[in-house]
Amino acid sequence: MPENEAISLWDMSAAEPVHDGGLDGDLTCDVAIVGGGFTGLSTALHGAEAGMNCQVLEAQHVGYGGSGRNVGLVNAGLWLPPQDVHDRLGKAKGSELIDRLGKMPEYVFDLIEKHQIQCEATRTGTIHAAHSAKGFDDLARRAQEWQRLGAPVDLLGAEEVARKTGTSKFFGGLLDHRAGTINPMGYARGLARAATSAGAKISTGVRVTKLSRQGGLWKVKTGRGTVTAKYVVLGTNAYSDDLWPGLRQTYTMIHFFQLSTEPLGDRANHILPERQGLWDTNPIMFSLRRDAFGRLIIGSMGAVHGGKHGLSRRWAEKNLARLFPELGKVEFDNAWHGQIAMTPDHLFHIHRLADGLYTPVGYNGRGITTGTMFGKALAGLITGAGEDTLPVPVTPLEPVSNRTLKTRFYHTAFAANQLIKSF
Ligand SMILES: Cc1cc2nc3c(=O)[nH]c(=O)nc-3n(C[C@H](O)[C@H](O)[C@H](O)COP(=O)(O)OP(=O)(O)OC[C@H]3O[C@@H](n4cnc5c(N)ncnc54)[C@H](O)[C@@H]3O)c2cc1C
Repeated sequence: MPENEAISLWDMSAAEPVHDGGLDGDLTCDVAIVGGGFTGLSTALHGAEAGMNCQVLEAQHVGYGGSGRNVGLVNAGLWLPPQDVHDRLGKAKGSELIDRLGKMPEYVFDLIEKHQIQCEATRTGTIHAAHSAKGFDDLARRAQEWQRLGAPVDLLGAEEVARKTGTSKFFGGLLDHRAGTINPMGYARGLARAATSAGAKISTGVRVTKLSRQGGLWKVKTGRGTVTAKYVVLGTNAYSDDLWPGLRQTYTMIHFFQLSTEPLGDRANHILPERQGLWDTNPIMFSLRRDAFGRLIIGSMGAVHGGKHGLSRRWAEKNLARLFPELGKVEFDNAWHGQIAMTPDHLFHIHRLADGLYTPVGYNGRGITTGTMFGKALAGLITGAGEDTLPVPVTPLEPVSNRTLKTRFYHTAFAANQLIKSF
């Protein structure tokens, strides 16, 4: 993709202004933050609000990574059902994490309100839709677990889901009232604006090429100068390069692609009329939502294949026709994909890579609330809170076995899935 081309529909349509600021020469700060996505920007916002001198260094532009390309579902939890989180983290830490994540959509929407971030926010929940009877059984179990914890989720029958989605193809669904949708690039740019107003500095088009330690401080080398800092936060996640050896090896990288239709006007008013975002229970899941301009946005796991009349477009046409035959022919105005960092245990991790150098990584496709939460927690850590206040325990880097093989396998399997579902 040419460098100046929009990276997603959200990049084209976000009402928040683009942040543009370079770096000229060397400087000193409290915290150097590598990466201008939700994690880096939230660290900068909360750090600056706590009186720290924060400098974000972003290789491309704000929201260039997953933050400007995602589906925009503001989720209240992980992919894993609550019981699995307890099994992996233990009862106490697991319960604390579930509780923290459950409160995060409200926190994100409060930030949006507080800083008047223009990002098409809707707060009508999200629907996890059952693609099969077995999928519905799984949702029923999840609903029970959530309801036992007092979470505001409803298990919906097929008829109710048909009313809320405009299609009778689902076997039921789980409506999470805590969740909602945003234009994610709008949110990223809005966080950048809020962080800058709080005193943080954001430099774009500045790739960090080396991190070294001298006299108890970090030297953060870029092509445009060196930043000296007490702390470094790496918020590079699924877009990590080789800056820190071994970091990329801790997750399997998968793609997720989306296509957006032209604005459909009244033709699509019956589809998701309350504007919930939706994904389904299929292991190779698909997502569906609307934007503020009446577009439908449909996506699934894998990369975009082909151009105007390529495979992904055929997949999108076929799936919209299957769900909403009454729509007729639709034109698509955008197709894009992004990278997701998947960890073997489906949990995100936080690593202390060296003294004063932290990185959260592996959000497994759930980063709007997670990135905001980790940024806030890391800002807290840097301003004096202990590591025990972080959402998950600090762990050492652990490489994924056969990572390259797995990445290739998923890429091929998702492409085959698109092909099969295009006929
Ligand atoms: C297609 C897709 C759909 C998704 N859907 C959802 C969803 O609906 N809901 C949800 O909550 N999450 C979703 N996610 C996940 C979410 O988008 C990510 O978890 C989140 O954006 C990660 O934010 P981040 O700030 O940690 O990293 P990113 O936003 O990926 O930012 C990393 C940044 O680091 C920069 N960088 C890398 N190396 C360097 C370097 N050496 N120097 C300087 N800068 C560097 C990159 O340019 C990039 O901008 C989705 C992800 C994708 C890709």
